[in-house]
Amino acid sequence: MYDDRKYTEENMPKTGILLEVENTELKDINFGLVTAARDTGANEVLAFTTEELGTEAQNDLARYGVSQLIRLRTDSADITSSPDNCAAACVQAAREYGLEYCLGLATAFGRDIFARMAALLDVELAADVLQIDFKAKTAVKSHFSGKTMATVSLQETPGLLTVRPNAISPVEQPATLESSVFQADIQSQAKVAVKEIKTSDDRKMDLTEAPIIITGGRPIGKPENYAMLQECADVLGGAVGASRAAVDAGYAPHSMQVGQTGKTVSPNLYLACGVSGAVQHFAGMKTSKVIVGINKDKDAPIFEKCDYGIVGDMFEVVPALTKALQQEKQG
Ligand SMILES: Cc1cc2nc3c(=O)[nH]c(=O)nc-3n(C[C@H](O)[C@H](O)[C@H](O)COP(=O)(O)OP(=O)(O)OC[C@H]3O[C@@H](n4cnc5c(N)ncnc54)[C@H](O)[C@@H]3O)c2cc1C
Repeated sequence: MYDDRKYTEENMPKTGILLEVENTELKDINFGLVTAARDTGANEVLAFTTEELGTEAQNDLARYGVSQLIRLRTDSADITSSPDNCAAACVQAAREYGLEYCLGLATAFGRDIFARMAALLDVELAADVLQIDFKAKTAVKSHFSGKTMATVSLQETPGLLTVRPNAISPVEQPATLESSVFQADIQSQAKVAVKEIKTSDDRKMDLTEAPIIITGGRPIGKPENYAMLQECADVLGGAVGASRAAVDAGYAPHSMQVGQTGKTVSPNLYLACGVSGAVQHFAGMKTSKVIVGINKDKDAPIFEKCDYGIVGDMFEVVPALTKALQQEKQG
């Protein structure tokens, strides 16, 4: 908890977000976070990062409503490879700027840093939330693989939350952005350090961050057939997923599995092709904004759970869909 914070005219409550940057590129999933931060009612949204961002990224942040971009720096410790030091620098910045809420993304990076911040500040963390009502001081998150939804109360200051990627749709609201540097004064307390980040060879979009996912189930039949789904995903700007039955059959790696024992995703559009709609699969994708089922059995359970259903053979429907989308794109 903060114990020594005093507000002045210049130091009114603000909301801070911790940006996700990959290879100096700002990820699109940050913009939903900016939108969430604006809903806090704080007079300013401050975006923190350890990276140096270019003009394009700064313009994008301003377009969604960030008023201050603050680069965290320190001469006394390594904050880029040590999550302990990064969290300590974030906590110092949160105190210094008088942040009422600190928001991050429920990604590997966000989960790592925010859990450490919660420990350092001795406050609770609302992790992996789907909705936030700052007026009521509550947040909604799913429990037990999505079987129940819990509304948690946000009582502490600063309120620490991680938000599931894509759960909150980004809405533009232009602001004037100022950039500055915050020089943290921390002693290195690194207990762990990230030595290397290995990206998968294919360098495809991460499923948990993809705005659109097209998933193939068991009837995909062989690994090569995922190329049909990848072609469609490429036109849509999305990623390809798999059901557990397809993974267990060796058609796709586990990194592509969606569901209770795979990844939890929240894309804007989820296309389930040849997926029966088992509860364990649904557990990982039920918070998708729009679900489309493509199945040749009109009585398949997926049709009870989707927004739109196509009864048909995916080997006919998907290529036809890709072709139509390509034509649409060409004008
Ligand atoms: C503890 C536990 C954890 C689990 N975790 C997961 C998980 O994380 N993720 C997961 O996915 N599953 C999980 N499962 C497995 C889950 O119960 C289902 O068995 C699995 O999801 C079924 O995969 P599927 O829908 O691809 O295959 P199937 O059940 O075989 O369904 C295939 C569907 O495709 C349709 N179909 C067939 N041919 C075509 C075609 N040419 N075109 C269109 N449609 C066609 C069929 O009508 C059928 O509905 C878990 C199970 C357990 C017990």
